[in-house]
Amino acid sequence: MNFHILTLFPDMVMDGLNTSIIGRAVNAGLLSIEAVNIRDYAFNKHQSVDDYPYGGGAGMLMQAEPVYLAYQAVAEKITERRSLTETEEHPESTAEAGSDLERKPRVVYLSPQGEVFNQKMAEELAREEDLILLCGHYEGIDERVLEEIVTDYVSIGDYVLTGGELPAMVMVDAISRLVPGVLHNDVSAEFESFQDNLLEYPQYSRPEEWHGKKVPSVLLSGHHANIEKWRREQSILRTYERRPDLLENCELTVKERRWLEEMVQSKETP
Ligand code: SAM
Repeated sequence: MNFHILTLFPDMVMDGLNTSIIGRAVNAGLLSIEAVNIRDYAFNKHQSVDDYPYGGGAGMLMQAEPVYLAYQAVAEKITERRSLTETEEHPESTAEAGSDLERKPRVVYLSPQGEVFNQKMAEELAREEDLILLCGHYEGIDERVLEEIVTDYVSIGDYVLTGGELPAMVMVDAISRLVPGVLHNDVSAEFESFQDNLLEYPQYSRPEEWHGKKVPSVLLSGHHANIEKWRREQSILRTYERRPDLLENCELTVKERRWLEEMVQSKETP
């Protein structure tokens, strides 16, 4: 998967993403991450990319043209690469309308006004071959270029940050770990919080006893079916206690619902 991040602070993005699991996945060729400096597309000699908003108001606004030129450069590169791959794989074919070559890449504008990012969205975006992430700064970006290039508006939460760089890094991290091969053990991405709208069960490692607290005995039993059952129940209970809103969209069996009711009742009864 290829991430293209349009930003005024490319170093911030690349420094943050070139380490640990994501950095290793890039080195292994499973991912590519490029940060494109919007300032390189400024059309004045001072390389300024912002101006006052019409109608007045606090702060500055990123201008449409540099953002548009940076987008165009990336979009053209993507089309060229796809066309090369297409020719290599199918030398006899000509590009047809509606083919992969004609498909415009998805462009996500990181914005507090967008749909709030979640695991389901990460799973969906992880299926894209290319993703362009547009980071705003100052008071945001001239609306006209957003109308022209943006396909998705995404927020990372109901608060306002100074720029879209941290949100872009959050998205790259969450999406990347769902790309096959990035986590060496694919199972660890499978049984995690938010799968099936449940939070993950509690986990323990050595030693068996720490500060007088023992690891639950079922986990030491070697009985896989019992371990699975215990983990599922703990996930349900934890979700009920910490994120009851998720349970509304969670498919529990009649037996599991009954078990949860009993657990809740037994906890409430002194
Ligand atoms: N004036 C804008 C508004 O009220 O909607 C906020 C601009 S904010 C100070 C500057 C940039 O930070 C935005 O253009 C956006 O790219 C990014 N940003 C801020 N908060 C964000 C959030 N919660 N999620 C995603 N991006 C955010």
